[in-house]
Amino acid sequence: MVINRKVLMLLIVVLTASGLYARQPVTENLVLITLDGYRWQELFSGVDSILMETVEYTRNPDEIRQRFWSQDPLERRMKLNPFFWGVLAAHGQLYGNRKFDNRVDCSNSMWFSYPGYNEILSGYADDARITSNNKINNPNVTVLEYLNQQPKLKGKVAAFGSWDVFPYIINRERSGIPVNAGFELALGNKLSDREKFLNELQLQIPSPWSSVRLDAFTHHYAMAYLKKNKPRVIYIAYGETDDFAHDGNYSAYLKSAWQTNRFIEDIWNFVQATPGYSNKTTMIITTDHGRGEMPLESWRHHGKDVEGAGQVWLAVMGPETDARGEVNESMQLFQHQIAQTVAAFLRVHFAPAHPTGNVISSAISSVTR
Ligand SMILES: [Zn+2]
Repeated sequence: MVINRKVLMLLIVVLTASGLYARQPVTENLVLITLDGYRWQELFSGVDSILMETVEYTRNPDEIRQRFWSQDPLERRMKLNPFFWGVLAAHGQLYGNRKFDNRVDCSNSMWFSYPGYNEILSGYADDARITSNNKINNPNVTVLEYLNQQPKLKGKVAAFGSWDVFPYIINRERSGIPVNAGFELALGNKLSDREKFLNELQLQIPSPWSSVRLDAFTHHYAMAYLKKNKPRVIYIAYGETDDFAHDGNYSAYLKSAWQTNRFIEDIWNFVQATPGYSNKTTMIITTDHGRGEMPLESWRHHGKDVEGAGQVWLAVMGPETDARGEVNESMQLFQHQIAQTVAAFLRVHFAPAHPTGNVISSAISSVTR
């Protein structure tokens, strides 16, 4: 049978139009990103002038001043966080600027990494069981594991992290989620040339730390996986910011934060340019804990004895998130709300055995709530 070309064209136009007008854009994929121990102070105000001028923390103040300083606080934060203030502020939402009494806090009382990542991923502050950074399989089911159990998402969830405790936090053994973290190499028999090269380089470039690799490896392994496997949900956990801060190296902490902005921009550009992801992907970015502010030296530290280390921040962007930019109203959000929010974007009701925080409804415009 010969199909009339005019009829075919008309059919395509009608179908496209009805698709466009019949439903609102929805999230089909989600990218969750964390920057370990990155302070809201630098995210919202840029480089700290006192830390920058303290030679103990900044050995190269001229270079840092040149790259990141401006008298204008808005320009200053843009110089350090170009993705957040250049792209995300225009199209998404940023929570946690305490100058506006807009607060995001850990609800766990530990204020260090495993308890923070557990709270983000499971939606539950488990102060009774998650009390150390030890490599213990997480007894709590994370939202990643829960999503991976849904028929529509099974096998389409993956995680990449710089810290070698992530296979335990995500409970790789029980969840079956592919996790590449710490100094693990890309595995499998269909490795791309890029993955093979990353495997070689990772063995050749010494990391400054014993349990955390440099973030460029995590980033490029994750990008390679995204391109090859097209997961629906990917979690990427960058780690350098926390370790450079512990080292007391403010210059490296800043440079790492800037570079992570570039990495996130890479991911976003890839997502927006790729059919299947473009305009169907929500990105959520946050941190596991804050750090101190006063006394000055406490910027290096966190934990329950460090004032302010439970203060965090959160950013959301995607097809269902209103472009409010920096949210400047008085508000209180908690880290335990992130997991349920991740699930809500993917139209899954996250119902694990433990209690969870509520969906952050202001972040999702088109969900009936
Ligand atoms: Zn730390």
